[in-house]
Amino acid sequence: MHINSRKRQSKKGADNVFAGLVFCGECGWTLCTANCKKQAKYLRCNKYSVRGKTACSLHFTPFKLLYGVVLLRLQYWLLEVHQNQDKILDRLLQSGERQRETERKHYEKEIQRATKRKKDVDRLFVKTYEDFACGRLDEENYEMLRTKYRNEQIQLADQISQYEEKLTDTKATEENVRKWIDLISKYSEINELTAPLLNELIDKIVVHEKRIDTDGKPTIDIEIYYRFVGRID
Ligand SMILES: [Zn+2]
Repeated sequence: MHINSRKRQSKKGADNVFAGLVFCGECGWTLCTANCKKQAKYLRCNKYSVRGKTACSLHFTPFKLLYGVVLLRLQYWLLEVHQNQDKILDRLLQSGERQRETERKHYEKEIQRATKRKKDVDRLFVKTYEDFACGRLDEENYEMLRTKYRNEQIQLADQISQYEEKLTDTKATEENVRKWIDLISKYSEINELTAPLLNELIDKIVVHEKRIDTDGKPTIDIEIYYRFVGRID
């Protein structure tokens, strides 16, 4: 018997195979299902549903559309894994690599920025004490500044360690790619989406608000983050 500990429990989402997997690209909340006029099931931003249009936008996503997109991508990767066994490992390492490189640069920049600010704050902290010691600053202002800088120091140190952790996560290994290949290889074919299948292969799906393409067509950007390998093209 297959036991999937990652399976999300949700009574409301019982008929939604994507329950707990789909997130709003703008606010980060989940997308939940809703029905319009009985027939067409769709997903919408939960924050929008709960807090209204000032909190986020609708993120109207037809269930069938999301289902189709995800099914096609999984079928595509399954075929690739079965047909190009010798090349797929390198391809997956490279494919995810572009995305991870962008992420890495972003985190490195953030670490640099926070480190620089932390050094400045450290200096200001010392200077505040010197100013107080030689009477250029009264006690009340000294206490106020001291607290302010101390809080910022803690906040920055926190940020730095968080970014460093994320930076480590972007270093995909061959081992991770193999894990994902093993997971998907178990299937000889994928003809329908089920919650256990999705939870086994996919970490999360991010859906962005509809935008108008350069040629005037409405487009919904859907990003699929697979387990172990992240976003692959
Ligand atoms: Zn949202």
